[in-house]
Amino acid sequence: ALFTWITFAISLPASVALAQPKTALQKADSVLRLMTLDEKIGQLHQLSSDFATGPITPDGDKQGQVRRGEMGSMLNLMGAARTRQLQEIAMQSRLKIPLLFGQDVIHGYRTTFPIPLAEAASWDIPAIEQSARIAAIEASAAGIHWTFAPMVDISRDPRWGRVMEGAGEDTYLGSVIAAARVKGFQGNAIGSINSVLACAKHFAAYGAAVGGRDYNSVDMSERMLWETYLPPFKAAIDAGAATFMNSFNDLNGVPATGNPLLQKDILKGKWQFKGFVVSDWGSIGEMINHGYSKDLKQAAEQSILAGNDMDMESRAYKNHLKQLLQEGKVPIARVNDAVRRILIKKFELGLFDDPFRFSDEAREKSQYDNPAHKAFARTMAAKSIVLLKNDTIAGKPLLPLHKQQTIALIGPLVQSQKDNLGFWSFDFEDDSVRIVSLYKGVQNKLGSNGKLLYAKGCNLNDTDTSGFAVAVATAMQADVVVMQVGEGRDWSGEAKSKSNIQLPAVQEASIKAIHRTGKPIVVLMSAGRPLIFNWTADNVPAVVYTWWLGIEAGNAMADVLFGDYNPSGKLPMSFPRTEGQIPIYYNYYNTGRPAQNDEHRFYVSAYTDLPNSPKFPFGYGLSYARFTYGDMQLSKTNLKGNEVLQVTVTVTNNSNTAGEEVAQLYIRDLVGSVVRPVKELKHFQKVMLQPGETKALTFVVSTNDLSFYNSQLQHTWEAGEFDIMIGGNSRDVQTKRIYWNK
Ligand code: BGC
Repeated sequence: ALFTWITFAISLPASVALAQPKTALQKADSVLRLMTLDEKIGQLHQLSSDFATGPITPDGDKQGQVRRGEMGSMLNLMGAARTRQLQEIAMQSRLKIPLLFGQDVIHGYRTTFPIPLAEAASWDIPAIEQSARIAAIEASAAGIHWTFAPMVDISRDPRWGRVMEGAGEDTYLGSVIAAARVKGFQGNAIGSINSVLACAKHFAAYGAAVGGRDYNSVDMSERMLWETYLPPFKAAIDAGAATFMNSFNDLNGVPATGNPLLQKDILKGKWQFKGFVVSDWGSIGEMINHGYSKDLKQAAEQSILAGNDMDMESRAYKNHLKQLLQEGKVPIARVNDAVRRILIKKFELGLFDDPFRFSDEAREKSQYDNPAHKAFARTMAAKSIVLLKNDTIAGKPLLPLHKQQTIALIGPLVQSQKDNLGFWSFDFEDDSVRIVSLYKGVQNKLGSNGKLLYAKGCNLNDTDTSGFAVAVATAMQADVVVMQVGEGRDWSGEAKSKSNIQLPAVQEASIKAIHRTGKPIVVLMSAGRPLIFNWTADNVPAVVYTWWLGIEAGNAMADVLFGDYNPSGKLPMSFPRTEGQIPIYYNYYNTGRPAQNDEHRFYVSAYTDLPNSPKFPFGYGLSYARFTYGDMQLSKTNLKGNEVLQVTVTVTNNSNTAGEEVAQLYIRDLVGSVVRPVKELKHFQKVMLQPGETKALTFVVSTNDLSFYNSQLQHTWEAGEFDIMIGGNSRDVQTKRIYWNK
C-alpha cells in the first residue's frame, strides 16, 4: 500500500514531475498548483471524529468530505487501524493528499504521565523532555501525527482549571519547559517515525483570564504580554515547534483567533514562524458571541486575514471562504500561504511518501505496553512529588515510613485508579489492571508481610460522614495513618474553573476526625491545581503534594513514603492562603507602601485580615536530606558592558540520605525606567548530593538576564544596581548586590 512521492510525481503533469522538486516547500508548491479552490479550502478544514468507536469512525458526511478532498485534517481519531482506514478514504480523493491526524496528547498516550503542572514541579528538564518523547513514541505508533501540546500558558491563578496543563506561574521555568516538551514531542526531526508535530498553545495570554474563569477576557499591558506571557511561545519556536494554536480569549478587546497583532505581526512577522496556526475548537465561530464578528462569514474573513491557517470545527472556511475570495475580501495569496504551510508539514512528516507510515499496527502493538515507558512513568511521577512538611515526632521525622509499622491507608482516593490520571488522559479497556492506586502501590511495596489497613472514610465531595467511625477505628489499630485526599480526575482541566479551591469540607473533616485519635498522619494531597488546606498544613505533621501522577501513581507515592525515592520537587506555583489573595505570584512589583515581613502596620499595601505572603512560596519543596548553602561568591561586584558574572555557591547535604536539591538564582533590578519585579528566576540547577557531600555550583549571569522591556518596549538592560539572590525557594534566599555599568 505504499504510495510514494515518486508515484505521486508521476501522476502529475509532466512539467511538474520533470522539475523534481527537492524541498518540502517546492514540493508543496508543486501540489498547490494542481489544487482547485475547493481542495485548497479543504486543507484548511478540520473536524473531529467525535470519538466514535467502530471500524471507521467519522460519520458519512465527514467521510464524504475526506473522499472529495475537502478535509485536510481530523482530530480525535486514534489507533493504527482506524487512522489507516480513514487515510485509505483520503487516498480515494483526486489528489490523494494525506490527512493529518491531530490529538490532545497532553501527558502521555497509552502510558499516562503526571499532569504537566506536576512534571513542572520536578524542575528536571531532561526528564520532562523524555516524558514528551515517550508520549510521541506511543502516539505516533497509534497513527497520530500531531499533538495539541505543549500548553505554554503562564498562569498566576489556581482558580483557572487549566493550570494543570501548563508549567505554572514563572516565565523562565515555563520557557525552559516549553522548549523541552517541543523537543520531546518532535524528537530529532519532524518526519522521524517516532515523532509527532508539537503545537504551542494557546496564543496568547489565555492563562490570564479575568477571575480565573475559563475562556474569559484578558486585558493586559503590552509590556506584561511581552515580558511574562509571550516568552514561552518564543522558546517553543526556537525549539522548532511546528504549529501554534490560537486561543478562545480576547486580548485587549480583540479575540486571539482574529487577532492580527498576535498572529500576523508578532508570530509570523517579527518571529518569522514558518509553521501553521490552527484555531482553537470552534473559536472562529465564537467570535460572533464575542461581538467581534457579525456572522460566521465575517469571522472567517477576520481570522484568516489575522493569520489563522486551519479552522478547527467552526466550518467557517469550508462554508464561506470561497465567497470571500470571489468578493475580493480575502486574497488568494493568503489562502495559498495557509495551504502551503500545512502541505509543508505533511511533506516533512513523509506522508506524501507513505500516508500510512504512522498507522502501523505492528509498531503500535510493540509500543503498547513498553516496560521502559512504564518504568519511566514511575520515575517521572516520583520526581513530580513535592514534600511540603515533615515534622519530627519523638526525635525523628515522620517520613519516610518503616515497612514494619502497621499502616492505615485512609481516604477517598486510596483505592481510586482513574482519578490518578487527571484531566486530558485516555481510557483503555484494561485500565483496572494498569493503573496503580495508592493502595496497590503500598501493597506492592510491602509484599505479603505488610501490615496494611484500609478505610475510605468519605467520598470526595458530599456531606456523608457515615464512614468516619470505621476510619477512626481503623486508624486506632495502626502505628501511622496515610491519607490520600484531594480532587477527582476532572475537577481541574478545561472549563473546570472554581471560585472555591479549598480541600472539600468532608475531606478536611475526615482528617480532623483521624487527627483526634492522636495517631501520626501523613496527608497525600492529590489535585490538578494548588489547593487551599490551611488546617491540614498547620496541624498534620507530614504533608506531601502528589498532584495527579498518572498510571504509576501508587508505586511512585509508595517509593516516596518508604524512602526509596527522596522527594525533590519544588512548587511551580505559589500556593495561596485563601482565594482572596489570587492572583498571587512571587515576582510582583513593589508598591510605594510595601508591607515588610508580612507585618500589617499603617497604611501599607496589605490586607487587614491576612499576610501578603502565600502559604507555600514558588520554588518551595523539602527533602529527606538537609541541604545547607554556603555564602555565595561573586566573580566581581562591579561589571561593565558585556562582561559576565560568575556566581558560585556551595550546597552541602548535611544528612545521611542522598538527595537532590534545586538551587534557584533570582535577580532584582533595583531601579529601572519602569519598575521591576522584586525578584525574577533567571537560572536553576538540580543537583544530586550524597550524604555529607558538598558541591560548588556556578551560575553565569549575563546582561541578557538583566534585560527587560523598557518604557519604549525595547528589550534592553539598564546600568545600575542589581541584587543577586540564591536559595532553595523563592522566599529563603541570600542576597548580594552588584553594580553593572554600560
Ligand atoms: C482546547 C484545546 C484543545 C482542543 C482540541 C479545545 O477545547 O482548548 O486546548 O487542543 O479543544 O481538543
